[in-house]
Amino acid sequence: MFDSLSSKLDGVFKKLGKRGILRPEHVKEGLREIRIALLEADVNYKVVKEFIKRVEVKAVGEEVLKSLTPAQQIVKIVKDELIALMGEGEKIDTTSNPTVVMLMGLQGSGKTTTAAKLAKKFLKEGKKPFLIAADLQRPAAIDQLAQLGKEIGVGVYTDKTTKDVINVVKKGIEEGKRTFSKIIIIDTAGRLHIDEELMEEIKKIKDKFKPQESILVVDSMTGQDAVNVAKGFDEKIGIDGVILTKLDGDARGGAALSLKVVTGKPIKFVGIGEKIDDLEPFYPDRIVSRMLGMGDVLSLIEKAESVISDEEAASLEKKMLNASFTLQDFMDQIKMVKKMGSLGGLLKMLPGVPKGINIDDKELIKVESIIQSMTPEERKKPKIIKASRKRRIAKGCGRTVADVNRLLKQYDMSKNMMKKFGKMGKKKLSGMKNIQDIAGMFKN
Ligand code: GDP
Repeated sequence: MFDSLSSKLDGVFKKLGKRGILRPEHVKEGLREIRIALLEADVNYKVVKEFIKRVEVKAVGEEVLKSLTPAQQIVKIVKDELIALMGEGEKIDTTSNPTVVMLMGLQGSGKTTTAAKLAKKFLKEGKKPFLIAADLQRPAAIDQLAQLGKEIGVGVYTDKTTKDVINVVKKGIEEGKRTFSKIIIIDTAGRLHIDEELMEEIKKIKDKFKPQESILVVDSMTGQDAVNVAKGFDEKIGIDGVILTKLDGDARGGAALSLKVVTGKPIKFVGIGEKIDDLEPFYPDRIVSRMLGMGDVLSLIEKAESVISDEEAASLEKKMLNASFTLQDFMDQIKMVKKMGSLGGLLKMLPGVPKGINIDDKELIKVESIIQSMTPEERKKPKIIKASRKRRIAKGCGRTVADVNRLLKQYDMSKNMMKKFGKMGKKKLSGMKNIQDIAGMFKN
């Protein structure tokens, strides 16, 4: 899904991430590349233009996030703006009883399959569905829907003897009501292209039966065409929303990203496979995570943001810069990492961490317990911890002197690293680096 877009965006972010400090011109260059990637993914050019403008204002102006690299911050801005682009996913309104849902779309868009998928979904929700085979154009469509209905145990109204679609829908709705169905789904005819005859037919159904929801089914693999089809249907018939199918294929992303902006209509569901269960509500954030191909990194950024306060990050950074990093700080740093969850789990989420690094969270607890067993003075001036103090500390926390020695060594390493940071001057401490460094110290 969105493989090409995903790998291009990833490339841009990696490039940005490699730079220590980001200047506006670097950001602009990155945005130029994102622009090209979006255009290649067949996103509407006006949408791309607006999008890049909005990201630029934020990415160039916004302050570097506490303890996060600027590149990560830009990923977050891009992510948020992509989500905003796609709008909220909306549900199908089923408050009317029965609710009539009319599905429309071009031939091959996945309309018939989607009708069955929707029926199954409602069935699971306990809202009795009923299907009407009103695609009298494609001979196989009626049999296909009848077959699907049988598979999922949902009633289907069919009449292969007539071409009078209005009558079929009328009888179908009557049958649906008679069987106390809550949701009546009409599978209308499709064509290879939008044509007058098709529009007339669908419009007639809409005018006569006034479905509560008129939903357009479009194939996401057709990119911009899908958006044009949606525009066409909306202008001629009026649509309440869109179901985007075949998102599991090599959809480039253009349809998903442009539909809302261009048509103003929400995406209600997405089709993610050929099977009946392969339909899910539209969650823009999930789609974007897939587009960015780094869902885990994104959630990590959110985690870091939520647990490390500005002050904490700033104070730690200051200590690092002037190398006044005490054992107490060391413990605070560990606590910060712990707040973010399991260290092993965190590491798995980080890009660039060698596979096979195994961090035992118990190790962190051990370190904490040893430091807790020290006096405030010892924490401040670990140099005073000689043999007798070591024995006392070890006893106090139920560990061995070797454990205490190991911790002091780790602290020394950490402090040396801080000194190096300090020498680097203004270079910001990044949350990522921080975690990786701590992890490095506990490497078995
Ligand atoms: P209709 O002409 O619009 O009624 O289209 P169909 O429902 O017959 O679907 C056309 C083809 O698209 C069929 O082979 C379906 O299995 C396939 N299809 C529909 N939705 C999806 C989807 O979300 N993912 C994939 N991979 N295939 C789909």
